[in-house]
Amino acid sequence: MKVVAPSGTGVVGRFDTFSFALSRTTFDCILRDAAEAAGAEVREGVKAEELIYEGGAVGGVVARATGNGKRETLRARVVVGADGLRSVVARRLGKVIRTAPYRVAFTAHVADACDVDDLGEMHVGRPGYVGLGPIGAGVTTVALVLPLAEARRGERFFDELNRFPGVAGRFDPRRIVRRVLATGPFARWSRRPAANGALLVGDAADFFDPFTGQGIYSALRGAELATAAIVDTLHRQLHSSARGAGARRAGGARPVSPPDHASRGVEPPQFRQLLGRFATGVTVLTSRSPNGEPIGMTANSLASVSLEPPLVLVSVEKRHDMHTAMEKGTHFVFNILSSEQEALSRAFAASEPDRFRGVSYRENQRGIAILDGVVAHIECEKQAAVPGGDHTVFIGLVVGGDVSDRRPLLYYRGGYAGLSR
Ligand SMILES: Cc1cc2nc3c(=O)[nH]c(=O)nc-3n(C[C@H](O)[C@H](O)[C@H](O)COP(=O)(O)OP(=O)(O)OC[C@H]3O[C@@H](n4cnc5c(N)ncnc54)[C@H](O)[C@@H]3O)c2cc1C
Repeated sequence: MKVVAPSGTGVVGRFDTFSFALSRTTFDCILRDAAEAAGAEVREGVKAEELIYEGGAVGGVVARATGNGKRETLRARVVVGADGLRSVVARRLGKVIRTAPYRVAFTAHVADACDVDDLGEMHVGRPGYVGLGPIGAGVTTVALVLPLAEARRGERFFDELNRFPGVAGRFDPRRIVRRVLATGPFARWSRRPAANGALLVGDAADFFDPFTGQGIYSALRGAELATAAIVDTLHRQLHSSARGAGARRAGGARPVSPPDHASRGVEPPQFRQLLGRFATGVTVLTSRSPNGEPIGMTANSLASVSLEPPLVLVSVEKRHDMHTAMEKGTHFVFNILSSEQEALSRAFAASEPDRFRGVSYRENQRGIAILDGVVAHIECEKQAAVPGGDHTVFIGLVVGGDVSDRRPLLYYRGGYAGLSR
């Protein structure tokens, strides 16, 4: 990203891991396909209009098909308002609070701009700013952000662009491929983005300003955290109602009960947030399955336990197929991944049956895979298995291994990182 001050002085900062820019249509298709692949029923052309309440809690929405205007009631145990800056859910919940800065954005897609490469650009003016984002196929998203009080200037979109020294003359108005759209005003937030039976994520919960460029990340991350909280709560409700505790309300809608921190510890989202601040390396733990097949799983819970004897530990979730292999097997190997091996980390974290497809490796004397290109590998003989909640902690005696000078892959706050020195 390049940021240019009104004086014309610029600074370029590159993301450590990756950044991307692509058209919204492409991005939305990726999201829709992922949702469907995860088992969601996606209905397009349907607008939520009202919330329905049951027993004092939100119990669903009334939605209208934008094509034929037909309304239907959709019941839900939890309603997640992910409906953007103009969120109906947030408004119906009375959650919208507007704050400064009061700004509006005018965005267009323009082809064949001069001197646009793979860098996003922000040109700060007095007042307002211009953002440029190349989205592929020679097209650039151009956003002009102005104070609300001066919104009328947006009508002269290209003239206004030319007022910014670093942008002037780079766009041909005849090369516009998507008309100028206006959005805003921005800067809104919800004091507490949750209510009984409902919660808000993304722009529906809060949005500060396009300049910060955090909106997509915050929407996706917020959705991940919300999912974890909802799934966990519904699971607990399911189990407690199976035991006869807590009567089910008519229609199935249930409030999300507040956590009982004292007896249960923190909720999973907070646990992940706390542990996410602990940067780790990334390993692929390998062993052999009971039927003799190579098996591997991405793991970052490797920890040193003792020097004499040399012991390490790893924690494996009981549901994982690796758990059976670790329970039945006697030996395992940690493959410490290098900065080039993020794709391997993702592959061995995926729930595919054949995680070794296309992966080059050799086998040690016990037939356990040692991956090529790793920073180091550590060979272990199992010493003990200790229960730890939904995981088992396996302790291994280090019996061999090898190192290289490659740089390690790191994991921090739910994403991949590298060493800066
Ligand atoms: C000019 C500009 C530049 C930006 N630049 C960046 C950037 O560089 N990087 C970045 O990360 N973020 C950027 N953002 C912010 C980013 O676009 C948003 O923060 C992000 O899209 C929020 O995601 P969301 O899913 O919460 O909402 P949205 O992306 O707005 O999605 C909401 C969805 O809900 C649907 N919807 C709306 N109302 C209803 C309803 N009643 N019923 C059913 N569906 C409904 C909409 O059709 C839409 O599909 C920018 C924003 C602007 C305006």
